[in-house]
Amino acid sequence: MKIKTIKSASYIVSSVAGALAAGFSLLAGGAWWVVLAALVIVFTIIYSISDLVLRKFVIYKLKPVYQIVHSRNIKTSQLEHELAHKEEMLDDIKVDIRAWEEHNRNEIARLKDNERFRKEYVGNVAHEIKTPVFNVQGYISTLLDGGLEDPSINRQYLERAEKSIDRLINIVQDLDQISKLESGILKLNLERFDIVEIVREVIETLEIEAERKHITIKVGNSPGGTFPLAPIYVVADKHYVSQIFVNLIINSINYGNEDGSTRISFVDMFDKILVEVADTGVGIAKDDIPRVFERFYRTDKSRSREQGGTGLGLAIVKHIVEAHGETITLRSELGKGSTFSFSLTKA
Ligand code: ADP
Repeated sequence: MKIKTIKSASYIVSSVAGALAAGFSLLAGGAWWVVLAALVIVFTIIYSISDLVLRKFVIYKLKPVYQIVHSRNIKTSQLEHELAHKEEMLDDIKVDIRAWEEHNRNEIARLKDNERFRKEYVGNVAHEIKTPVFNVQGYISTLLDGGLEDPSINRQYLERAEKSIDRLINIVQDLDQISKLESGILKLNLERFDIVEIVREVIETLEIEAERKHITIKVGNSPGGTFPLAPIYVVADKHYVSQIFVNLIINSINYGNEDGSTRISFVDMFDKILVEVADTGVGIAKDDIPRVFERFYRTDKSRSREQGGTGLGLAIVKHIVEAHGETITLRSELGKGSTFSFSLTKA
């Protein structure tokens, strides 16, 4: 038999005691009413005592468990009060312990995930920084060991050291930006502006890069794709939206083919504008498509580094788009080119 409540335990103890008392008085030759009185009196007294003693005993045993589950000090009297009307105390605490166990299990899983993410992140950052730092060290050592006086290498090595330092600066700036975006420190400064104008400004700054690879940058849907284009007003953070264009257009050049093209077009979708940045470049394999927005994920590491890529550009773009409550998608085919599309809210 399973005794589940203090009351039923007290009931059994007092029934046995009452029966014994009645038995003794019967053996002693007591009248029927004496036997009955002994039964009732002993039952009542033993029931009250055992209920009190058992309750105190259970509370004494449960107190440390309650303190752990609720992470606070609990006085015995407080616990007595809390459990005063609960008959199935053990079932109650079982429910509490299960909830506590579930909460702790989730918390441990979350902490383990964070730990793994932190290790990976620190490892990636160290790996990114290592190459340019060692390069700078190598060039400077060679210059100090006599290279400075050798006109065939001194300028060239200084220029290479400068390139590595530029790369370090890019990494640090991107890391700074991504950590600010992720920690939510940066607040968006929403305003109404013409997105066509922003695209024009960004293209102007990247024209030299594009020309280097004979890549034509077109805007709008017409085949020629040139300005002027009718203004398109959106509500967004101007600075960050221009950063999105810089990152996407730079990628379209870095991973674009010689004599190719990049097209920035706009699709009107009710209260949204869908912005597309499409290139005719190397494209991205199907398996890589879902991963290119991850920090430090590259489909072609050497090509990315060669172009001065930090592996953080698309992660930054995704953060900015999502901070605006919008979405970004990618369509791409290896060898045919890529199209990044993101939405913005019309003004
Ligand atoms: P990176 O600094 O390496 O360019 P990004 O985060 O901007 O880093 O891009 C991540 C990776 O996605 C790149 O290394 C490249 O492999 C791929 N990628 C990004 N944009 C394009 C594109 N337009 N065409 C082909 N591959 C691209």
